[in-house]
Amino acid sequence: MPRRVLILGGTSDGRALAELLRPAIGPSMSVVSSLAGRVRSPRLPPGEVRIGGFGGIAGLVSYLRDEAVTHVVDATHPFAAGMTAHAAAACAQTGVPLTILRRPGWTERSGDRWHRVASLVEAAGVLPQVGSRAFLTTGRQDLAAFAGLDLWFLVRSVDPPDPPVPRRMRSILARGPFTVDGETAILRDHAVDVLVTKDSGGADTAAKLVAARTLGVPVVMVDRPALPPGVPVVATPAEAAARL
Ligand code: NAP
Repeated sequence: MPRRVLILGGTSDGRALAELLRPAIGPSMSVVSSLAGRVRSPRLPPGEVRIGGFGGIAGLVSYLRDEAVTHVVDATHPFAAGMTAHAAAACAQTGVPLTILRRPGWTERSGDRWHRVASLVEAAGVLPQVGSRAFLTTGRQDLAAFAGLDLWFLVRSVDPPDPPVPRRMRSILARGPFTVDGETAILRDHAVDVLVTKDSGGADTAAKLVAARTLGVPVVMVDRPALPPGVPVVATPAEAAARL
């Protein structure tokens, strides 16, 4: 039976996996990458792409059946917990094997001043005790938790932030990868005294952590949501490709 692989993407790892599988595509294997459609002009993976939600667990179950999907790789962002939970439930219902491709989180090094918190709400709770000029890199959809704080915020996102947003805020639009020199300049130019980030992991957005360490800027690090139990997890696109 021909294999049909569904990659749940929206990440550089999802694109890398689609690229790695490209040479194997032929009569015995096809690959489709799925994006949520959040970003206005997404970086598209190579090959077949579908865009938009499936319509919950039931919608994904129908999609897997209609498209005769034989393997699913959840390569979504570590904080896309809703999609990951839906994938686990739909694959369990249909018997389609699921692999989670999740890059490792970041680890604290000597010289770092990290405050680990369990959620964005907790990050907003500790922030006033840590600094007063915050660089917020948690994404445009995650500002509500900070909207009630009377601190100054520099907010970086790919598309303009969604309301509600903090009252005292400057927005910069940019997409990684970022460099240490560029991140250092941002922290210095805006006199940032605390960085807020999700523990996304990966090299593309790690430069801000190096810049913060060098300048002695503390970091509020939001921990990842838990993974669904019992689903195999791999750390790299190459490992995911090998499993397929
Ligand atoms: P989420 O909260 O886990 O998902 C919400 C809903 O969006 C899902 O139930 C699903 O809708 C749809 N969806 C999410 N990912 C999808 C995909 N790859 N293909 C089709 N539908 C998808 O997700 P999120 O945090 O909003 O993230 C959305 C997308 O942005 C993901 O693809 C993720 O990889 C990417 N991303 C997220 C972050 C982040 O910080 N959260 C950062 C960078 C990139 P239905 O229920 O209708 O199927």
